[in-house]
Amino acid sequence: MNEIQKDFPILNQQVNDEQLVYLDNAATAQRPTQVTTALTEFYQTDNANVHRGVHTLAERATADYEAARRKLQKFINAKEPEEVIFTKGTTDGLNLVASTYGQQNVKAGDEIVISITEHHSNLIPWQQLALEKGATLKYIHLTDDGELDLDEAAKLITDKTKIVAVAHASNVMGTINPIKQLAKLAHEHGAIFVGDGAQSVPHIAVDVQDLDVDFYAFSGHKMMGPTGIGILYGKRALLEAMKPYQYGGEMIGFVHQFESTWAELPYKFEAGTQNIAGAVGLGAAADYLTEIGMANVTAHEQEIVNYLLPKLEAMDGVTVYGPQDPAKHTGVVAFNLDGLHPHDVATALDMEGVAVRAGHHCAQPLMEYLGLTATARASFYLYNTKADADRLLTALQETKEFFK
Ligand code: PLP
Repeated sequence: MNEIQKDFPILNQQVNDEQLVYLDNAATAQRPTQVTTALTEFYQTDNANVHRGVHTLAERATADYEAARRKLQKFINAKEPEEVIFTKGTTDGLNLVASTYGQQNVKAGDEIVISITEHHSNLIPWQQLALEKGATLKYIHLTDDGELDLDEAAKLITDKTKIVAVAHASNVMGTINPIKQLAKLAHEHGAIFVGDGAQSVPHIAVDVQDLDVDFYAFSGHKMMGPTGIGILYGKRALLEAMKPYQYGGEMIGFVHQFESTWAELPYKFEAGTQNIAGAVGLGAAADYLTEIGMANVTAHEQEIVNYLLPKLEAMDGVTVYGPQDPAKHTGVVAFNLDGLHPHDVATALDMEGVAVRAGHHCAQPLMEYLGLTATARASFYLYNTKADADRLLTALQETKEFFK
């Protein structure tokens, strides 16, 4: 085990009598002891509900929760903590925007532009909003190199466009998308830009001010934080003008019998008791990544992809999807083996201790567009090594022999 792997006790185990190689990080990452310890310590020393109490534990829990918010603010370089809203995750954040900003601002005849590579979480909320409002949903497709077609995007985004929503990185092919350019295009036409950061924030440095995105959603569990916690970043002026997403405790200013007023940001969007420990754990995950340095995380993953891609492509009967250039990649690599269903490939790899995912990866329109039903997907993170890539290659070779 290398120094980083020692922080992840779960990696130190055998699966099917083989040393585990965990390559399913795009689905969820593993947690370092620094995160699990932060969770345990919170529950063992500070646990109380936040914001309501005046007793010492309530004050400590509130301080921990708000400190976590500031850590995440810094992590994505948001201008102020009020622009950082705790959610359940990416799906929750994107639904929040569609249900509030979308409901308030999209009308019949308007257009919403997304890409064909979107995860269902950044597709269905816009599809349903468009259907409900009589708006049109338009898709940016791919060039022959497997990248977003920016020429097509420039034609699709017009003065009719109200929302452009695109993932910063693809969960299927690992492509890093030029969302700064897309946000600029959207703004030139008076539209807003919504970024899906589920596969980017864990892997590349993200600066929401530099990207000039209007909203940006991501999940804690993909960046080594707990499940059930995530962040929605939104520009203050937009958040101020939006109606609440959910109603209940914590999000109110004053409640009268027949009318109510709302709390200040960010609490207007944090109805009910939040995942307080989850926020604290997510703060610890941000600390962990900051300590290592996001540039180092990216460089490490790209080095592995750089090593793996040519070898994978050189294998007989293997098709690799996505960009060839490792600089345009996160650590996600999608592939298929001729004549084998990806589920069989994933099961065979598991027998060798190698955990990968197989399926449509919650991107059925992309699969349809590529003429596929499914792919296998290996996704690397900061604790993976070139030796893990070698284990994948060897296991794939054995899988091919086995099914011959
Ligand atoms: N968007 C992308 C690109 C994803 O990869 C995922 C999860 O795989 C999501 C959205 C949804 O994230 P969550 O299930 O954490 O809400």
